[in-house]
Amino acid sequence: MLIDTYGRVATDLRVSLTDRCNLRCTYCMPEEGLQWLAKPDLLTDDEVVRLVDIAVRMLGIEEVRFTGGEPLLRPGLVGIVERVAALTPRPQMSLTTNGIGLKRTATALSAAGLDRVNVSLDTLRPGVFKALTRRDRHKDVLEGLQAARKGGLTPVKVNSVLMPGLNDDEAPDLLAWAMRHGYELRFIEQMPLDAQHGWTREGMVTADDILASLRSRFDLAPERANERGSAPAERWLVDGGPHRVGVIASVTRPFCAACDRTRLTADGQIRACLFSTKETDLRAALRSNAPDEEIAGIWRLAMWGKKAGSGLDDPTFLQPERSMSAIGG
Ligand code: SAM
Ligand code: SF4
Repeated sequence: MLIDTYGRVATDLRVSLTDRCNLRCTYCMPEEGLQWLAKPDLLTDDEVVRLVDIAVRMLGIEEVRFTGGEPLLRPGLVGIVERVAALTPRPQMSLTTNGIGLKRTATALSAAGLDRVNVSLDTLRPGVFKALTRRDRHKDVLEGLQAARKGGLTPVKVNSVLMPGLNDDEAPDLLAWAMRHGYELRFIEQMPLDAQHGWTREGMVTADDILASLRSRFDLAPERANERGSAPAERWLVDGGPHRVGVIASVTRPFCAACDRTRLTADGQIRACLFSTKETDLRAALRSNAPDEEIAGIWRLAMWGKKAGSGLDDPTFLQPERSMSAIGG
């Protein structure tokens, strides 16, 4: 098991498959992009599958989510999914994506064994999408979402980040749209993980702001009062159900005490937390032909030292060196 000194057990593995992206969301990376990892630094498909195998067979991982950067840019994605689906025990498998390219790949991903997708979409307005992502690809995302639903990658979840003055008036419209199309919407509070270090607490849209805005049009009842387990989203029944909406309040209502995640970056580093300033290298062990038991031991040790919380409320909080897209959100 991947247990830490606070008794938390990580069963959910986030695997970043690339740090590259075809969008430039303002809350994530600068217009010019970032210094991408060099190809030899990236884990190969074989290395990714070997680590996931160790994780499910020896470390108690039950769920694997592929992310990035934009994971659909990883050439070997379908093959990786297929090989992970063949592992014993077989983990639940999902993908977090901006949806561009899903139209082309949803059927193949589903056939390869992918269970679900989360598609990030912050606005229903193409002009606002262009301002937020610096790319004119709104239509591609909508088409990707439809393809995911048709391909059976359900429930299709939609992740939205609200930004003041850009799309913070869109929460009720996004919810009405998601309910109409059968997507499960979750709002994510903006976190200090942008490469430009532009985040401020005063300048973010909080969970309370989002809920107040939604309540101007919908009746929201807590789905299970005070019981969100390790799932980060607090979920609300909309107008008595069956539709739900989630709010992931990582900043204003952190859920660190129930965190069950471990993260693997595209270059083979283990991070115990999104906000860790420390990483543990598995790639060097992999490439020096270390046996599975040794790699599992390094991974266990990395998680054992997981901190109690993100430290966001600590005046000495330091934003991690890597930004969201380089960690794998
Ligand atoms: N490119 C894919 C996508 O956008 O879904 C996967 C990677 S992206 C880093 C994963 C999620 O992180 C997206 O839903 C995105 O909106 C979210 N995200 C990125 N930067 C963020 C930030 N500073 N605060 C909160 N969420 C952020
Ligand atoms: Fe790319 Fe996702 Fe970051 Fe947007 S949030 S720039 S889609 S990695």
